[in-house]
Amino acid sequence: NRIAVVLGTRPELVKLAPLIHELGPAARLLHTGQHWDEAMSGRFLRELDLPEPELLSGVGGRPRAGQIAASLEQLDAAFTAERPGAVVVQGDTNATLAGALAANAHGIPLVHVEAGLRSHDRAMPEEHNRVMVDHIADLLCAATEENAANLRTEALDERAIAVTGNTVVEVVLRQLPDAAARAALLARYGLRADGYVLATVHRPENTDTAEALGAVLGELDALAAAGTAVLFPIHPRTRAAVERRGLQRLLERLTVTEPVGYGDFLGLARHAALLVSDSGGVQEECTVLGRPLLVVRRSTERPESVAAGFAALVRPGPELGALAAEWLSDTPERLARLAATPSPYGDGLASERIARLTLALAKPLTA
Ligand code: UDP
Repeated sequence: NRIAVVLGTRPELVKLAPLIHELGPAARLLHTGQHWDEAMSGRFLRELDLPEPELLSGVGGRPRAGQIAASLEQLDAAFTAERPGAVVVQGDTNATLAGALAANAHGIPLVHVEAGLRSHDRAMPEEHNRVMVDHIADLLCAATEENAANLRTEALDERAIAVTGNTVVEVVLRQLPDAAARAALLARYGLRADGYVLATVHRPENTDTAEALGAVLGELDALAAAGTAVLFPIHPRTRAAVERRGLQRLLERLTVTEPVGYGDFLGLARHAALLVSDSGGVQEECTVLGRPLLVVRRSTERPESVAAGFAALVRPGPELGALAAEWLSDTPERLARLAATPSPYGDGLASERIARLTLALAKPLTA
């Protein structure tokens, strides 16, 4: 019996890639289709050298409940047709929850990669997904001791918890383009190493109201007006929100691109003087790349990046502009300090550990 790996979005492809490689032919990939297009999935499958997944249908673009329901029904059928030895899910997306519920319904051992993250902000659907999946998982792969402590606080079974590190460390080290390719990349965008801001924004708290979206983009526009190049690979949801709110004017001074491939994103992040983002994955990647990050969010489930000095939480609006100016004023010292600070997310062997534990969990059923 194979190991079913259920995923549906760009960050899941990125973080699960090293584990899928470790599992080799034992892995059966099921893609829920939550982000299914060339820019958000197709190119990531190729770049990360992943096998073609089995694609479920009719999920993208639907509201949350419909996405979870459609994925659950199709995963249920897939697991009935071929019962896996274990099901692996990662993170906190609707695909994560659907995969977990389908495993649970079939009594199949469930592995949660990146267990124990908590923002303690129940306004985020991701927080609901994390908490629910952790509470029905059989193997909880916590990236850090802090994540494991969160699981213990919720009285989860100690025997199910393993501190593995985060697979982001190995994926960044493997996918970061070499120095020559990075120099060519910067030249393509007309950027000077250590001399620009790289920004991404897509969470509902920053895109769902004209005030929040205008506040974030207004501060990026002000940075650009003050002479700092701002590269902005725009997420499809954010592009739609900008058009809906008529905020195109705030993009005029930014270098706006379509979302870029993973290697390109890492190469661009590696030489940014400052990252500005509401992404979860970027909060981890910045610690491997040694770059400072302003997290434009109300709360974070990754306080390790803040505690280690890589990141700070800011509100959209003047606080973002003020802290960005402050952090940009001492770039050489800051970069030197961060280059000497280890990532809090582990040693780059997480996927090896998770694969070993997953295969051991699947064994009793397949024997
Ligand atoms: N990313 C990318 N290209 C881009 C923007 C982001 O490859 O143009 C990567 C980024 O490095 C991170 C992942 O996509 O690994 C983050 O995805 P997203 O922000 O959608 O999700 P989150 O991390 O917030 O769950």
